[in-house]
Order: sequence, then structure tokens, then C-alpha cells
Amino acid sequence: MIIFLNCFVILCMFIIGSLFGSFFSLATYRLPRHQDIVATRSYCPKCKHRLEFLDLIPVLSYIIRGGKCKYCGDKISLRYFLLETINGFVFVGFYLIFGYTIKCLIVALIYAVIFVIIGSIIMSKNMTEEEKQEVKNESKLNKKAGVFVSELIVAMIMFTILIVSSIVINRNYNNTSVKNMLDAHAYSLLVKNVEVCLATNYDDLSSYTLQDTIDGNTYTITVNVTKLSDQDFSKEDLVKTIDAKVSYMYEGNIIEKNIKTLKGKVL
Ligand SMILES: [Zn+2]
Repeated sequence: MIIFLNCFVILCMFIIGSLFGSFFSLATYRLPRHQDIVATRSYCPKCKHRLEFLDLIPVLSYIIRGGKCKYCGDKISLRYFLLETINGFVFVGFYLIFGYTIKCLIVALIYAVIFVIIGSIIMSKNMTEEEKQEVKNESKLNKKAGVFVSELIVAMIMFTILIVSSIVINRNYNNTSVKNMLDAHAYSLLVKNVEVCLATNYDDLSSYTLQDTIDGNTYTITVNVTKLSDQDFSKEDLVKTIDAKVSYMYEGNIIEKNIKTLKGKVL
């Protein structure tokens, strides 16, 4: 189950990364040309045909179309495919290094900003003289540069859902593991206490509390050895069996466990 979940998250991270990669290629192409990256949908740089939803699926669209524009048949630069694939792996890497954390989100966002800035500078060097002249003439008219592009919106929504859900999953997972540890600690305390009781005086069943610290949180465990029933008491075989109870507070709830028939040797 955990392996399946991990594979699913890694796949999601790859998709998110490739969506970012798709946005990166759009942003780094358009920003140096002072083109709008908000309202204008992706288009083929050659025939200027607007791309449909199916043409915008990162990595897959490129493979399905065989690296060619569906409308004019012109070769699509391998740059798009590489940016999408590489960023898919980069985001998987972020997940593997930082896990399900806010840190992962922050690192990915800083990476995205740096990538777009450096990418835009590099891409501006590749512009033809005509394009540069065009930008000079139009730069005063068109300076909008928002970031709400379809790819980015989808990636951001997926990313946020993933990080938030992961924090919830992690919390539950931690809660379960802390509870399991407390259970185990409480049980071993109980066994020790019962052993002491049985070894000294059976009627003097004690109850005591002690602090247990797990991950910096302190929990109070109360061990009660209660004589719920006398069973199989036999001086002959020197073994006593009693019922015992252990309780502790966890997240405002009292967790109680009855442990039946604990055996101890009479010394
Ligand atoms: Zn085309």
C-alpha cells in the first residue's frame, strides 16, 4: 500500500514538474518578447495556430504527435519535450529530498522563479534582430507579465493539494506511530508493575504514573494493576494470574486498555 502510494505521489510530482516545465518554455519564450503570458493561449510558434487542450499535455503530446505540429506539420523544438521531461524529474527529486513538506513547496517555487529569470535571459540571446527590434518598438505598449497561465494554475493547484494532503497523511501516520509507541511503553510498564506486585504482595496492587517523552512531547502514562478478578491462584505452582489495566492521556482522550490474565511468578 505504502509503495503504491509512493509511486502515485512520484507520478503526480512528475506531472506537476512537467506542467511547470511546459510553463517554463512558454514563459522563457514570451517574456523576452514582451508577450502576454496570461491571456494568450499557447500557440505554434510557426503557424501561430492556437493549441487545443490535447496539444498541451506535457511530454505525452510531444510523443503522440511525433514531435510535429498537428496543424502545419512543422517540427516542434525538442526544447519543449526536454524541459518538460527534465523538470518532471527535477520535481520528483525535490520530493525525494524534501519529502512531503512546506520546504519542498518553497524550494520548488524558488526554483521556478530562478528558472524563468535565467531561462528568459538565455532565450533573449537567441532572439533574431527583427524580434529584438519589434520588442523595442512594442515594449512601451505591452508590459503585462502576470503568471496565471493554464499550465501554471493546474500545476499550482495539484501541488497545493498534494502538499496539504501529504501533511494530513503525515500527521495521521505520526499519530498512529506515537500511539503505537505509547501502547508498547505502557504495556511494558504494566508487565513490570505486575511482576513487582506479584513478587512482593499480591494484595498490594499499585498504581503509578510516569512521564514518557516521544518526539519532544511528554505523555503521562498511568499504570493501574487492578484486581478485576482472581483466577488460577495457586500457591502450589507459584504462578498467579491477574487482570490489569493501563491508561494514558493522548490528545485529550483517555486511552484505556484492559489486559487480561497477566501471569507472574510468586517469589
Ligand atoms: Zn504549427
